[in-house]
Amino acid sequence: MSGRRHRPGTVHLVGAGPGDPGLITRRGQDLLSRADVVVADALASPELLDLAPKSAERINAGKRGGRQSVRQETVNRLLIDRARRGLLVVRLKGGDPSLFGRGGEEAEALRRARIPFTVVPGVTAALGAAAWAGIPLTDRRHASTVVFATGHPGPARSTGDPDWELLARADTLVLYMGVRRLAVLVGRLLRAGMSPATSVALVRCATLPEQEVVSGRLGDIVSRARAAGVRPPALLIAGRVVRLRRGLDWVSRLPLHGRTIVVTRPREQAGPFVEDLRARGARVLLAPSIELRPPRNRAPLDRAMRRLTSYDSIIFTSVNGVTPFFARLLEMRRDVRDLKGITVLAIGPATAAAVEARGLRVEALPEDYRAEGLVSLMRKRPLRGARVLVPRAAVARDLLITELRRRGAVVDVVPVYRTVPTRAGAEQVRAALRQGRLDLITFTSSSAVASFARLFRGRIEARLIRRVPVAAIGPITAATARRERFRVAVVPRVSTVPDLSRAVLRYFKNSPSGTPRAS
Ligand code: SAH
Repeated sequence: MSGRRHRPGTVHLVGAGPGDPGLITRRGQDLLSRADVVVADALASPELLDLAPKSAERINAGKRGGRQSVRQETVNRLLIDRARRGLLVVRLKGGDPSLFGRGGEEAEALRRARIPFTVVPGVTAALGAAAWAGIPLTDRRHASTVVFATGHPGPARSTGDPDWELLARADTLVLYMGVRRLAVLVGRLLRAGMSPATSVALVRCATLPEQEVVSGRLGDIVSRARAAGVRPPALLIAGRVVRLRRGLDWVSRLPLHGRTIVVTRPREQAGPFVEDLRARGARVLLAPSIELRPPRNRAPLDRAMRRLTSYDSIIFTSVNGVTPFFARLLEMRRDVRDLKGITVLAIGPATAAAVEARGLRVEALPEDYRAEGLVSLMRKRPLRGARVLVPRAAVARDLLITELRRRGAVVDVVPVYRTVPTRAGAEQVRAALRQGRLDLITFTSSSAVASFARLFRGRIEARLIRRVPVAAIGPITAATARRERFRVAVVPRVSTVPDLSRAVLRYFKNSPSGTPRAS
C-alpha cells in the first residue's frame, strides 16, 4: 500500500438466527459471502462460516455458559482494528444482535471510534423456539402480550432486578438464559404471583436437530428439567399458548425426525442431499471420506484440450469431472466453441445438468446411470476408429474404457481430478456411534465406501459401524459396501441422489427399528 491511509471498512452487526443456518437473512448471507473478516459468537452456526470466502479471516469470539472467553473489550478492539485496515467486517451474533447480545454496546464502541456500521436483524431465539416447538406466542383466544426477558442480571446493574410482577403478569413470557438459574428464576415468578399451574416449555437448542422440549407447569418444571438434564442454551416459554403445542408440534412429525444419518459425499457435492434430509427432520453428520483435488499430472488433460477438435465424443462420468474440466478449458483460453461438433454424453442427470449449465447440450443419457449403461448407449454408435475423450478421476472403474476399446474406439482417459482421503467429520460420527445414535450411513460411490471403512480401524469400532444400516446409491456401490461387510438396507431402483433420498424416506417409514427420540 502507498502512504495514503485508506478509508475504514464497515462493520456489519449481523443476526445469525437461532441455530438452523437457513434462518439467516438474505442480506446477512450476502454480507458474509463478501466478508474479509468474520467475528462469530459461540451461538452462531458454524455452517454459516462456510458462507464466507475461503480467504476470509475467521475469529471465534465465543462466550459459552458463563465461561470467560474473549472479553467484550477485546472484541470491540478487534472490530475497530480490522475496520481501520479497510476490511469488510461481519460481526456474526446469535439470534438478533439487539436482543440480550450486547449489540448496542458494540455499536456504541464503533461509533466512538468513527467506524461506519450497519445492523442486520436476525431471528431471535424466542421466535425460533416458538416456531420449532409449535407455540404461537400470541393467540386471539389466549394471549395478546408477550414479554421477552433475560434471567441473567446485567453487569452494570443499572436496570436492577427485572420487575418480576410485570413478568408474572404477561400473557406469554419468554425467559432467555434461564437454565443454570432456573430454580431461582421460577421461585421469583411464583413469589411475584404467577400461578404454579401455568403451562411452560423449556426449549433447548431451538431449530437445531438436537432440539429438546421439556414441558410442564411452572410448579414442576425445575424437577422435570433436572430429570431431563437440560443444559444451555435453552429458554423458557410460559403462558396458556404453550398448551397449543400439542396440536401444532410439526417438528416431531417430520418423517426423519430423531434420525441421525451420515453423508459421506465430498463436501463440494453434498449440498442438495444434506438439505433434503435436513428438511425432512434428520440430523445429518457430514463425514466426507474423500476430498477432491487437482490431478498430480495435468499434462494429459492439457494435451487433450489442445486437440479437442480431433475427438468424436466426450463422456463425463461424474459431476466432479465437469467443473475442473471447464475451469481448465477457460484457463487455457478456450471455451465451448472448441467443442463444436463433438458428441457429449453424461452418466446421469446430475452430470448432464452440470454440463448443460455450461451451455453445452448433452446428447444422451444411459437408462441406468452406470458405466454399463454408457457402454450400451455407445453400442448404438459406430465405434470402430471413433476417438473418445473421458475426463474423470485419476483412479476409477475401467469397465467403460475396456469395453469401448474392445469395440475399436480410440479412448483417451485423462485425469481431471483425484480423490484423497480425509478425516473431516469422522470424530462426530465416532461420538454418535459410541452413543448408539447412528441410524443410517449413506454411500454415493464405491470409493467412498472403502475410505469411510478405513476411518474405523479399532476392533470394536469396526464392528459397531457395520451394525449400522447402509443406504447405497446403486448396485455397484451396494456390492462394494457388502464386500466391506456393511449391512446394506437401502438401494434405490434408479441411481440418483433424489431417488436415494426417497428410498431413505421409505425405509424409515417402514422401519420398525430405531425409535425417534421423544421431544
Ligand atoms: N441475541 C440472542 C440471544 C443471546 S443471549 C438472540 O436474539 O437470540 C443467549 C441466550 O439465548 C441463551 O442463554 C438462551 O437462553 C437463548 N438462546 C439462544 N439460542 C438458543 C437456541 N437455539 N435455543 C434456545 N435458546 C437459545
